[in-house]
Amino acid sequence: MRVTWTGTDLSFRLDPDDEITGKASDDHPVKLATNSCSIGGVPDDAHPDLFALAAWTIVAPWTRRRITFDRAISAELAAALHDGWGIEAGPVGAEPREAGRTLAISYSGGADSVAAATVYPQAPFVHFRRVPHRRVPNRWPHYRSDVLAKLAAKTGRELNVVTSDLEFTLAEPRPGYPEHHAVAAGALLMADRLDLGGLGFGYELGSRWLGGGRYLWRYTPDNVMWSPHGRWGRLFASAGVHLVLPVGGVSEAVTMRLAMRSDLKDHVRWCLRGTDGPCRVCGKCLYKELIQAAVERRPLDTPITADRPVARKWLRKPPYGGQEMIEYGLARVPGIDKTLFAGALDYFEVSEESTSWLEHCYPKAIEEIPAQWRDEAAAFMAANVGFMTEDEVRRVETWGS
Ligand SMILES: [Zn+2]
Repeated sequence: MRVTWTGTDLSFRLDPDDEITGKASDDHPVKLATNSCSIGGVPDDAHPDLFALAAWTIVAPWTRRRITFDRAISAELAAALHDGWGIEAGPVGAEPREAGRTLAISYSGGADSVAAATVYPQAPFVHFRRVPHRRVPNRWPHYRSDVLAKLAAKTGRELNVVTSDLEFTLAEPRPGYPEHHAVAAGALLMADRLDLGGLGFGYELGSRWLGGGRYLWRYTPDNVMWSPHGRWGRLFASAGVHLVLPVGGVSEAVTMRLAMRSDLKDHVRWCLRGTDGPCRVCGKCLYKELIQAAVERRPLDTPITADRPVARKWLRKPPYGGQEMIEYGLARVPGIDKTLFAGALDYFEVSEESTSWLEHCYPKAIEEIPAQWRDEAAAFMAANVGFMTEDEVRRVETWGS
């Protein structure tokens, strides 16, 4: 792989042994659409390791053996790429970047991201906004990135909006981040300007520790994407930007509660299909409605019926993505047996007691936050959530076994 930045425009050329089909770090298959993209709203004089890392979040799935950057990187970054991926990276010759002092939040506007922001009320936001690609037709006009950017601007926080078409480098399954970490590409190029030493993401207990998404039903202390000692965590740290998960110890029930009680509650938006609010008819809206109804202890309010395609995955046998929250919802939503989730009740023995561990904070998630930001998160969790008991910790650590 050869990577060239012209200002903040990225182009890359595959080597003969690279391939246009690949897998992201979560094992999701992806296919390349085009070999260029650009990032706007960012300076063009960042440390070379930041340019290299930003590029790697975009080209990693296609790179097999080596990557050649257009400027020298540090030996530390090259070593992290080699240790993590077995990739030869160069040229080497730059001094490593020193970590800055500021923690920023990668702010999406979703409930998890808003909850992460409430843990650090002083932290500036960096918001990634999708813009069209010059050469790739946009067949997804229902995706309203403008609405999110407007909501982010109303939060009152220091806000840095970066724009990018990098999601259009993906042909399949659809435009999106080649690696989940690509959402940080713009924040990385701003890291020197913002004196960043850490970047906070809204990944919660399920994504960080319970295998979330694709690793269903498995305790994942060594999560390759989000643990500090995983390959991505080490790579970000080598560029002086630590991955920080402020809400990595709490479930989506807690992030929902924190978001809905926060000053930012009017700006929360997890669905990008509607303009005036969530569309209420997509799978994500249904899942979030289940969680919200459980948190508010009220009946499910959805127009979706069991015969709709988006309902299909809940009619099958488990495991489900976000299964811990399905169990939580089944245990707590009044009248759930008269909804499309009724069938799922057959597969579980759930009660409020058996799901109460999902209301507290898993202590190891706080321990892995870098020291300079740890106490603030610990104090927040002690005051607003409470920590898990030993029995509850055991529920996390035996998940899926
Ligand atoms: Zn929706």
